[in-house]
Amino acid sequence: MAVDSKHFTNVVHAGAQPEAVTGAIMPPIFMTSTYVQEEPGVHKGYDYSRADNPTRAAYERALATIESAKYGLAFSSGLAAEQAIVQLLSPGARVIVSDDVYGGTGRLFRRLYAKYGIDFQFIDLADKAALSAALTPATKMIWVETPSNPTMKIIDVRHIASLAKKAGALTVVDNTFATPIFQSPLQLGADIVVHSTTKYIGGHSDMIGGALMTSDDQLFEQLKFIQFAAGAVPAPLECFLLHRSIKTLAVRMQQHERNAQVVAEMLSKHSKVKRVYYPGLSSDPGHALAKEQMTGFSGMVSFDHGGTYGEVVAFLQKLKVFSLAESLGGVESLVNHPERMTHASVPEDLRRKLGIGPQLIRLSVGIEHVDDLISDLKQAL
Ligand SMILES: *Cc1c(COP(=O)(O)O)cnc(C)c1O
Repeated sequence: MAVDSKHFTNVVHAGAQPEAVTGAIMPPIFMTSTYVQEEPGVHKGYDYSRADNPTRAAYERALATIESAKYGLAFSSGLAAEQAIVQLLSPGARVIVSDDVYGGTGRLFRRLYAKYGIDFQFIDLADKAALSAALTPATKMIWVETPSNPTMKIIDVRHIASLAKKAGALTVVDNTFATPIFQSPLQLGADIVVHSTTKYIGGHSDMIGGALMTSDDQLFEQLKFIQFAAGAVPAPLECFLLHRSIKTLAVRMQQHERNAQVVAEMLSKHSKVKRVYYPGLSSDPGHALAKEQMTGFSGMVSFDHGGTYGEVVAFLQKLKVFSLAESLGGVESLVNHPERMTHASVPEDLRRKLGIGPQLIRLSVGIEHVDDLISDLKQAL
């Protein structure tokens, strides 16, 4: 699919306003912890940089703009942003979570927050009957990740958000894989969108960051308080660089998606490949729903290699343009072995159930020339 034309101008101007003193077109990097006051409590709107910083404020305006949200909040990592959402909850709350969420999200819930009396239920959110059965009056939140990682499952956000609303629960969508360019969860009924800005929003594999967006005044007040009170804020330099990255988000996503479609089609016809997971393939089980709720299929492609684990390793080592590394969403193409790398912390029985085995390979398709990506994959296969 194509990037909606509105995004190209939107991302360039998001959050930008000439600086008041000099007219600088880019926001200055305000490397300051504190701000001089005229008399106690009388200041220019800033008193301490954990609470507010002008460079962060400009970046947060940009985050809100690209997600068509009223508010954006920046955090020091994707998981710090997720943690702020969990801190909205009280002991006794139940949270329904996609069973194939990002490995670190599952670890945060299972290893850190379950012991505070929050009950996380991991279920297959594509299974509508299981979801209805799990939903009880104690359910305060449903946590969705779509497309999922690493098998690119597509979850019906509109359906889940309407069920959640009736039950009085919040819907949270991790929009890291689709990006605001290809999916608008708030428009589909979600209450909060979370991003690891480490990935596509940052886009250059040089930073760790996270973000939340919402259009709900009350939720924003609570989340802003948590950001201030818990303190997982990014530094001004990071805010500047992430704001700068947003300007190229639409052109980058356009190229990521074009390349990923060609790569997925080539792989799906290759004799050494058993199965390809990419919602842009018309044969993919999530294709119809993805076409309905997304405006593009993004740049992540997974596949099952047809050979033994030894052959899989040989393939990974033969690649020259794709680098073997964790993470995703940067301009350079990466290849990852979920079972041994990104998803090693997922309990083994769940890994088997989700289809994360020795033959599964995940590609973060970069913005290089597609011919170079195709010939690299072909020579390694
Ligand atoms: C990477 C990632 C996270 C965690 O973000 P960090 O920036 O690594 O803390 C959360 N969700 C998804 C989908 C991710 O890919």
